[in-house]
Amino acid sequence: MPRATLRTPFNPDHQVNYGLSIASRDAATSEVVSVNCLLCIHFGREDTDTSTAQEERKRRRTENIKSFTRPFRTDNYVRHLSRQHKARWDQFKILARNQKATFFQRNAPVRHMNTIPSHFAGN
Ligand SMILES: [Zn+2]
Repeated sequence: MPRATLRTPFNPDHQVNYGLSIASRDAATSEVVSVNCLLCIHFGREDTDTSTAQEERKRRRTENIKSFTRPFRTDNYVRHLSRQHKARWDQFKILARNQKATFFQRNAPVRHMNTIPSHFAGN
């Protein structure tokens, strides 16, 4: 059973449902290896702890992007989203699927493609 869980492949539907972006794939099988949190990418984390927030501001923003790897379990996404993006996640999770699909285009302060360094393409 744990072995099967570890093999849990990425569900493409979760890109929209949980605001995820595929970050890298296995070169041989093209299976998804890692996905990034789009809320981290577009909005950053909602730090409530002041010392942590100051510390994180010193670092480059891209280093704070949450990345998920196998097993791709929804409870892992939800745990991160509800802790690090509570306000936005509360808005996002109640949206209809088509609204989720355009959420980042409508709400993101900057365009995704212009802000993410090329190394996120997995080269
Ligand atoms: Zn995040």
